Amino acid sequence: MIVQQAMLDELLESRAAELDEHDPLAVARARFVLPHAKVYCQSTCLGPLPESVPAMVEGAVSAWGHDLLSAWMDAGWWDSPRRVGDKIGTLLGAAPGRVVAGDSATVHLFNVLVAAARLRPERRVLLGITSQFSTVRYITDSVAGLLGLRVRRVPPEDLVAVLAATGDEIAVVIDEPVDFRTGAAHSLADVARAARAAGAVVVADLCHAAGVLPVDLDANDIDFAVGCTYKYLCGGPGSPAFAYLNARHHDSEYLMALPGWTGHAEPFEMEAEYRPADNADRARIGTAPILSMVALEAALDAFDGITIEQIRRSSLSLSDFFFACADRLLAGRVEIATPRQPDRRGGHIAVRHPDAELLVARLADRGVLGDRRPPDLMRFSLHPLTLTHREVLRVVTELAFVLSDRDPVG
Ligand SMILES: *Cc1c(COP(=O)(O)O)cnc(C)c1O
Repeated sequence: MIVQQAMLDELLESRAAELDEHDPLAVARARFVLPHAKVYCQSTCLGPLPESVPAMVEGAVSAWGHDLLSAWMDAGWWDSPRRVGDKIGTLLGAAPGRVVAGDSATVHLFNVLVAAARLRPERRVLLGITSQFSTVRYITDSVAGLLGLRVRRVPPEDLVAVLAATGDEIAVVIDEPVDFRTGAAHSLADVARAARAAGAVVVADLCHAAGVLPVDLDANDIDFAVGCTYKYLCGGPGSPAFAYLNARHHDSEYLMALPGWTGHAEPFEMEAEYRPADNADRARIGTAPILSMVALEAALDAFDGITIEQIRRSSLSLSDFFFACADRLLAGRVEIATPRQPDRRGGHIAVRHPDAELLVARLADRGVLGDRRPPDLMRFSLHPLTLTHREVLRVVTELAFVLSDRDPVG
């Protein structure tokens, strides 16, 4: 049995080596500072550090020291929300001028959700998914309370049918194309099409999609989208989030919830009345956190020359290989909560086991860094720019080891 296992592992090892050798994104790995002798699978919480970041942050600190106020314009700080937004936009299928960076995903969500609801004043329902991420749930409930609306939540696979059946009541659909727990993905395009047919506005939270899953915001005619940048986009702890505004929402009369001065058409005129900028700048709120913005802008260089379609292919190759390794090494001992069907997968794999907490701790002791979502899920993000197939094999091998090795319960 042991001999047989070793032979199987050898097969997987040579397969991993072969896949790594032909991975077109292998060059990108050198653009990151990765922990020595560990396998980092925590990008669902915090992407690793791109090596271009420290020097750029130092440069910004030194511009502050030497150039003081003039650096706001001379060092390009004032325009950075748009410039950085455009860079993020290339990974979201958004044309230049439709994405701005700044604030947090939570703040942007509140801001655009109110704006979206104001576009459909005659409708009373905000439609979300049952598996909403906590902050999405809280903000949706808060906006509903403030505007006197009702919230309805349905499983993501029912969104299209619910929109077809009761779409004329629905003001806004708030969708998350990747389940933050299980990593299950569904088609934002299908949801957007059904919403359009029903006359509902679409808001997408892309935190678990940005940088790993194509979302084609322009082509899918999404109204508003938000997302954080510290997960797959590797912008750093608390890095500025982004908001996407469909071009059709650049010059209409509606207002964002948070009409901050930097989103004004003429911010330096300090006018008594708020007039929104007639472009995506209206999603700017207050002054941007420049040191974090500079870190994010430098981090995005790690994606230079790489398309989101290439990233998706590598991502699926890594998760395919995870399934192949799990079939041989874990069979029957755990349940993989992520759907096996490729178009139903996001960027991470979730493994279900009642001892998830203990197993994640044991794995960390052995150099495999995953994380946990209570009650019983272990999550392993497979960042396509930094992870190899050999490392995926190591994750599964170590998981098989800690499963065999764990103390008998009780
Ligand atoms: C991570 C995540 C957030 C984070 O929001 P912050 O404002 O950055 O804390 C929001 N929504 C989803 C779906 C997430 O996964």
